[in-house]
Formats: sequence, C-alpha cells, structure tokens
Amino acid sequence: MKKIIRVFPRRTNATPTDENVRFGDPGLFDTADEVHVSVAFSWDLRNAQALADLWSIVAPVKIGGPATNKCKGEFTPGMYLKKGYTITSRGCPNRCWFCNVWKKFGTVITELIIKDGWNVLDDNLLACSDNHIGNVFKMLQRQKHPIAFTGGLEAARLKDWHVDLLLKLNLDRLYFAYDTPDDLAPLMRASIMLQDAGIIHPNKKHKARCFVLIGYPTDSFEKAEIRLNQTLELGFMPMAMFYRNHEYNFRGSWPDKRKWNRFTTEWANPIIVGGKMKQLK
Ligand code: SF4
Repeated sequence: MKKIIRVFPRRTNATPTDENVRFGDPGLFDTADEVHVSVAFSWDLRNAQALADLWSIVAPVKIGGPATNKCKGEFTPGMYLKKGYTITSRGCPNRCWFCNVWKKFGTVITELIIKDGWNVLDDNLLACSDNHIGNVFKMLQRQKHPIAFTGGLEAARLKDWHVDLLLKLNLDRLYFAYDTPDDLAPLMRASIMLQDAGIIHPNKKHKARCFVLIGYPTDSFEKAEIRLNQTLELGFMPMAMFYRNHEYNFRGSWPDKRKWNRFTTEWANPIIVGGKMKQLK
C-alpha cells in the first residue's frame, strides 16, 4: 500500500490527527510515496505552494482540498478531514454571488456514496433527491455520536418530513444561513417549524444555529447588527462570518478592518452570543 503523507497549511478542528499528517517542513526521517498538500481555505493557497516546493524533495507532491478545484471525487473518511466528518454530496443549485460552491462543483448536485460520519458537511444536503436525503438520515441514525450539520441546511428547502427525520436523531446542532435580506422569510418559516418540533426551545441547548454573513460591499454595521438580532429573536444562535472578497483581502480601510474584526469576534463567540440569547428570554 502506498504511503501518502498529507500536509496541511493550518490545523483546524476538522484536521485529521493520524501519524501521516504534517503541518510544516518535512522532518529529517520523513519518507513517502506521495505527498498531498490539502488546502481548506483560499487564503492558504500561496502557503500551500511553498509547502509543496519544500516537500517535493520527499516524494511527488499534489495540491488539492476544498480551496482548489481538485476535490470533486468520492469522499474518503479520515483522509483530509478528521474521522466523523462526512460529505455525501457536492454542488448546489443556487448561485449565491458570494459563494464559490456552485462555480467549483456545479449547479447540478452530485450525490456521492454515503460514508459513515456524524458531522455532515454537504454544501446543500436538502437540495439532494428525497431518496439520498432519506439514506443519509438512515446512516446518521446508526451513529453513536451526536449529529451535527455543520455544512448547513437551506431554510427554504426545509420540509416537515425533514424535521420528522431530525427528531429521530441524537441531534447536537444544525446550521442555517442568513446571508442576505432575502434569507429572512425562509428563516422565519424554518424557525416556526423547529419551534413546533421542540428543536428550538428557550430552555434547551442551542441546537439551531445560523451563519450570518457580514461585511460584504453593501453591508454596514447597522444592517449586520439587525440581521444578527433578527436571528437571535427567531431562536437561532447566530455565528457571524466575515465576508472575504475574491482576492481574499479586506475591501476597506485599516481602521474599518479592525472594527469589523472586533464586531465579528463578538458575534462569533458562542459565550458572548449565548449571553445575548439569555437576555432575550
Ligand atoms: S445556498 Fe449555500 S452553498 Fe448554495 S450557492 Fe448559496 S451559499 Fe453557496
């Protein structure tokens, strides 16, 4: 069997931890048949190339990962993401202007072979066929770990039978998104469905969460704060995500960047946001 060393520009919660994972330069005794540099974030691409150059003395190097266009095939659990994460489909039929998913994976969903895991990272699981969604939930029902939908579920596609399936899981958390103002109406509908099912409940753990994109060109602190507060009022725990443009640079001035950084940190901190939720009760 080929020995493949996987090199990562940075360590995240999702990075595998086995003996063939590396983060920096090759060690003196590193040997491999192949080296794969896996890049999760576009802003790490330059660093990934530098790593690839360094590791080319050990073995032939390939650069891949979500930040590149080279992660389109079947998903292998534990290879580039820690055991527990799973991806059962790629692509999204929507064409959100700020998102690269549909540019990279297309607007026709590709359903993959379903591999076991308890943290689902699909780009848009609810856009898959009913049959695929049903089979993903069957796989999730047999997991021993609490289930997370970190990839996010699209509120506009949430149906009653999805909620029924969610109720059969040992659910840890699920994420929706409030990126632009047109997301509000579907989010309100999803909030009612999840409240009726008891998944959103003022006295229970914050299972329903929501990524809120902030700081994009037509956004302002006032508008972002309104979206974040609306999210709170609907019973979702908001998680601010700062917009990065295609060059992955901040579009404004430095003082503004510092202000946005502070604002994002405050609204992405579960302890601070949890405190804001308590005040609403
Ligand atoms: S719905 Fe989500 S995954 Fe699909 S294009 Fe919009 S942001 Fe991207």
